[in-house]
Amino acid sequence: HLPEPRGSWSSESSDSEESWESLYRVVLLGDPGVGKTSLMYLFAGVQDKDLPEQQREDTYERTLSVDGEETTLMVIDTWEAEKRAPEEDNWFHNYCMQVGNAYVIVYSITDRGSFESASELRIQLRRTRQAENIPIILVGNKTDLVRSREVSVEEGRACAVVFDCKFIETSAALQHNVSELFEGVVRQIRLRRDSKEA
Ligand code: GDP
Repeated sequence: HLPEPRGSWSSESSDSEESWESLYRVVLLGDPGVGKTSLMYLFAGVQDKDLPEQQREDTYERTLSVDGEETTLMVIDTWEAEKRAPEEDNWFHNYCMQVGNAYVIVYSITDRGSFESASELRIQLRRTRQAENIPIILVGNKTDLVRSREVSVEEGRACAVVFDCKFIETSAALQHNVSELFEGVVRQIRLRRDSKEA
């Protein structure tokens, strides 16, 4: 049930850009345990955190109204990658690196290793999607765990500046800044769309 990579998207409608332009694929990247699935469930407004793994979806679609305009995001969670066979895992990872119209790279502010992985993912993305100006949002999640913080806000912000992406801190547990995150994704996508049209 995974979507086709961009380019082969126009199976049923015309092959003009319109056919995929109204729906944008947002890929969640980041180490296991940083909160990707939790963020996606909040985005989707679903309560199925306790579902057995076989019944979990790895993509959710929702139409958001931002600044008076509606945009549909399909959020792709990469959690399954950890449970796949290595070859399949590799395929899935490469697939995700190709199909995103925007990327959300998540780390946990309580886990410096996940912050370092985020940088690596950013470098990989730059390599895979070199010529494209795709929106990337760096997310420091778990801000509610104040006493276990290992990565400061300043470090997160500085990293985003170096990597030329947007930055936001969230708490999936407290539902803090989560809608702001996805609204930000929509605005970043539109900025690029509008500058292309201009
Ligand atoms: P994933 O592996 O990146 O998809 O991470 P999950 O969404 O499965 O979350 C891993 C664990 O961290 C789960 O136990 C979540 O309940 C917990 N978690 C996720 N986000 C937060 C958060 O913002 N604050 C706290 N305290 N725990 C969180």
